[in-house]
Amino acid sequence: MTSVASAIARTAPLYERVSRFIPPFEWPAHARDIDAIMTLKAERNAVILAHNYQTPEIFHCVADIVGDSLALARMAARADAEVIVLAGVHFMAETAKLLNPDRVVLIPDTRAGCSLADSITPADVRALRLRHPGVPVVTYVNTSAAVKAESDICCTSGNALAVVESLGVPRVIMLPDEYLAQNIARQTKVEIITWAGHCEVHERFTPGDIREMREANPGVVVLAHPECPPEVVAEADFAGSTAAMITYVGDHRPAKVALLTECSMSDNVAVHYPELDFVRPCNLCPHMKRITLGNIRHALETMTHEVTIDPAVAAPARRAVERMLAIP
Ligand code: SF4
Repeated sequence: MTSVASAIARTAPLYERVSRFIPPFEWPAHARDIDAIMTLKAERNAVILAHNYQTPEIFHCVADIVGDSLALARMAARADAEVIVLAGVHFMAETAKLLNPDRVVLIPDTRAGCSLADSITPADVRALRLRHPGVPVVTYVNTSAAVKAESDICCTSGNALAVVESLGVPRVIMLPDEYLAQNIARQTKVEIITWAGHCEVHERFTPGDIREMREANPGVVVLAHPECPPEVVAEADFAGSTAAMITYVGDHRPAKVALLTECSMSDNVAVHYPELDFVRPCNLCPHMKRITLGNIRHALETMTHEVTIDPAVAAPARRAVERMLAIP
């Protein structure tokens, strides 16, 4: 057998899982990379952490740990491999490094950024503190380590409400996602001071999209991510983090469902629920899509690109993340 043929044979059970989303002509190239990645993972004592927005051939075929930002941060804290490859965006790799300072953390493409992380700088946070003295800063994990270092505590879309209420104060600054902050403000008595950062994927959904979708797909159940504008969340049947959406689909098994979030999420969830009809009004995250099997393989072959964080930044940033992780 040729090496491609043996790679295809070895990865056949994996292809069965994702064959609804990957045409047969694309599989030989994926099979070669997957086969090589499996060998490299063993040689390097490496684990691959993949975000829910990664493509099915990464999410279902090479990842050891999958989840939303909170799950990845928690699991990264427990990873005992020597090398962590983050199949996600740069701030996620930084969070993994913060929680695993002694491990080598690799990001396959350093250009995998995030519009939210880019919307705010450490100087912006310091200016906000001057404007609102004594008000604690709650920072979404979708930020650089340098911004986390200026914060009191981090949050994710899954635990933001619990984090805000855990502080026992009447006002907080919540940054950088304006829509997440506004959506949380509707659920709490705590006054929330916002910042005008947006996720370029979720800000594109509109209430009109949902109305059109309902007309074209009678009975569809619409789940929205809280990074969507509040008027979109108000039109949806449910709003929650990617992990909460997965739980909702598993618990309710809606015959027809739409996930208002990044495109790959529906594919990754649909693998587990072939009987459900996923309506796909999705938007692509160009940053998440920079990660491919090819550059994951290259990262493990060459041990690039290693994520490093200045120790003076890492210590306060880690404190903010660990304070979040301590909240049940
Ligand atoms: S989906 Fe939005 S928040 Fe997530 S990485 Fe892409 S731009 Fe950032």
